[in-house]
Amino acid sequence: MSEEKTVCIVGVAGFIGSHLLEKIIRERTWNVLGCDMVSPLKIQQLLGAEKKWAGRFSFTQMDIVKEPAKLKELIKQSDVVINLAAICNPSEYIKQPVNTINSNFTDAQDCINFCVEHDKHLIHFSTCEIYGRPLSSYGLPADEPKNYLLDEETTPMIMGPVSAQRWCYACAKQLVERLIYAHGTENNLKFTIVRPYNWIGPRMDYIPGVDGKDDGQPRVLASFMTALMKEEPLVLVNGGEVFRTFCAVEDAIDAVMKMVENPEKSQGHAFNVGNPDNNIKVADLAELMINMYSEITGKPKGTTRTVSGVEYYGPGYEDSDLRIPSMRLIQQQLGWTPPTSLKSAMEATMKVFIEKYADKVADLKRGQA
Ligand code: NAD
Ligand code: UDP
Repeated sequence: MSEEKTVCIVGVAGFIGSHLLEKIIRERTWNVLGCDMVSPLKIQQLLGAEKKWAGRFSFTQMDIVKEPAKLKELIKQSDVVINLAAICNPSEYIKQPVNTINSNFTDAQDCINFCVEHDKHLIHFSTCEIYGRPLSSYGLPADEPKNYLLDEETTPMIMGPVSAQRWCYACAKQLVERLIYAHGTENNLKFTIVRPYNWIGPRMDYIPGVDGKDDGQPRVLASFMTALMKEEPLVLVNGGEVFRTFCAVEDAIDAVMKMVENPEKSQGHAFNVGNPDNNIKVADLAELMINMYSEITGKPKGTTRTVSGVEYYGPGYEDSDLRIPSMRLIQQQLGWTPPTSLKSAMEATMKVFIEKYADKVADLKRGQA
């Protein structure tokens, strides 16, 4: 049994926060101090619903930028701080680049400084996007692993020009990683950095018009689910020619738990957390989801339509074309390998989305007719 601890989760009411909280509350005896600026809809089921959990989890609704004193108090009371708070949806990088940079760089600084001041282990969420595009995208031989596998300790980070505002998120994340690393060397900050590769699962993002902005553009999983349930074509941005590796959120959460429980092996490192076996072209993901949705619901197969990136997201959109994580470091330090296939993660996730939303989306469609 692991030792007792208090974990502060900043951004606990989001997608990853909700899964991390659930794992800790159900499978450990630790206390959790959670905060988020949004209301805790995604973690409602854990908010005092069962007596056995009572007293182990407290939630504070707050914007960490507006209430630094409260954040400091939560951090002071914790052993480990996991910072998930960020704007991390590509549709926002172009609509609100200043907020994106502030959210991912400036707003993370209180958390870092309080961890330095109170000597806490900070587990900070970055992104696989900090690598930009792999060397194979710049003409180096695509069959040599060093040109496409993204390795924490050897791969250079190459992004598009400043005018391609898509990269403002990745640059802000990269700079905050460098700041955290600098605090590690200069001020003995105990840190671990997580670079997620397209984690997927229930509670990811929202369905526009049902539980989010009417005109919102969620990330690809929720976007494709929205189209399937509304019986509209799935949008393939620039033909869906780029690749992503998808990782089941429950596998990824196990990696984070290993980081919390093995500080001597996780501190001082930035880790890729993804599943290289689940690499797929976005257009093929659409086809997989169309077929799976039809099998699950018995409805006719959906269709796709292509839209340019600039049309869909706005001027300044560029895309990562390939992101395959090297597993070298995380296997060496934490012995972690993600077991779940894309098909099995997708099927489980789609069933939860359908159960939660299909009727509401049908009502929405009827209301619009
Ligand atoms: P999410 O948007 O579902 O969760 C982020 C949460 O942070 C939200 O609930 C939001 O309300 C909260 N938040 C943002 N700013 C805040 C503030 N100022 N004060 C209080 N709360 C605030 O996103 P997620 O998918 O759970 O991602 C979490 C982290 O992981 C982010 O840092 C993101 O950049 C990183 N990440 C995730 C993925 C992925 O696959 N999901 C991929 C790459 C990086
Ligand atoms: N995408 C798409 N259709 C959509 C939403 C996204 O083709 O409805 C593409 C997007 O252009 C990108 C990939 O899917 O190439 C993954 O996008 P997502 O927003 O999930 O996040 P990213 O991996 O780019 O951070």
